[in-house]
Amino acid sequence: MLDPEMLARPNIQRLKPYSSARSEFGGSAEVYLDANENAFGSPTETQLHRYPDPLQRTVKERLAAVKGVTSDQIFVGNGSDEAIDLLFRIFCEPGRDQAIICPPTYGMYKVAADINDITVREIPLIGDFQLDAAAIVGAASEAAKLVFICSPNNPTGNVMNREDVLMIAENFPGIVVVDEAYIDFAPERSLISEIGGFPNLVVLQTFSKAWGMAGARVGLAFGNPKLIELFNRVKPPYNVSRLAQDAILDALENGGTVDKWVTQIREQRSSLRGSLADLEIVETVYPSDANFLLVKFGAPESVYNFLLSENIVVRDRSNVVRCERCLRITVGTPEENSALIASLRRCEKSGGAAAALTEIAI
Ligand SMILES: *Cc1c(COP(=O)(O)O)cnc(C)c1O
Repeated sequence: MLDPEMLARPNIQRLKPYSSARSEFGGSAEVYLDANENAFGSPTETQLHRYPDPLQRTVKERLAAVKGVTSDQIFVGNGSDEAIDLLFRIFCEPGRDQAIICPPTYGMYKVAADINDITVREIPLIGDFQLDAAAIVGAASEAAKLVFICSPNNPTGNVMNREDVLMIAENFPGIVVVDEAYIDFAPERSLISEIGGFPNLVVLQTFSKAWGMAGARVGLAFGNPKLIELFNRVKPPYNVSRLAQDAILDALENGGTVDKWVTQIREQRSSLRGSLADLEIVETVYPSDANFLLVKFGAPESVYNFLLSENIVVRDRSNVVRCERCLRITVGTPEENSALIASLRRCEKSGGAAAALTEIAI
């Protein structure tokens, strides 16, 4: 079986991590004079004068119960973006190693690769935006350390075939990262249940989407305990603030509300899809297992600008490979979705459709 430690950069294998006051003394005491905090208090209502738990143990205990894993299989980060950056810093030697991404996909993988001076190999999605699993495994090399798979994929909205992902995890001799930021909106099961069988599998989830906590900046990575230990070694000691940890504990107490919202968002997604498909200016609405729809227009630019003139902002993805002429639209509240459809109908009437036809002609 593959050992994640052996895939880590040599300097990370050798690394002696920073030992913070709070990690050196893990117990509880009455008088804390070990971390140079202000013992008098903080000038805010929430008392924040003490450093937070560097390993977020309470958060992990609750999460472990919710996700059916053990605490040592969980990394908690400052958004998934921290986990993505750490993956590069743990496994990829700048200027030498490579990461595989499957466009069209989430933009942060390439940005994080560029920041870390890692070459990106692109293996585009094929057919209905599915993985070219054979090509990914075929691209294995000493230098290819990471594969990023986004499922449901941003911006296309579809879930990747489970057998393809597992085939890659089985055969790719590096770390396989499955980003499940939108998994709560999909009918498919999370791949977290597979981490026990694949020591090279990392599953990313986030509190930013279904959980409604984007402002707290909390992302998660699930994997083999040895892999999670590498994250803990490299992360900044106090990477998740006390405010964020408390907010997550609070959110976890109210999971029922989140489940209700997810149900509503799925219903809204389906009715929004229907209304969009009825519009003449719309060419295609792609199926989605996420909380957004990828929509192909005849004239995306004029639609985008028209919506903006009516104070509605969507995401222009028209310059992304295989998303030509597409806008990505987040599913909003019923009121927001009605406002969007009303605005698009005005756009259609005001000659949006005519503009669309001209643009196609060009
Ligand atoms: C939104 C999103 C995230 C979330 O990132 P955070 O840093 O946790 O907010 C991660 N991956 C994908 C594909 C996303 O679309």
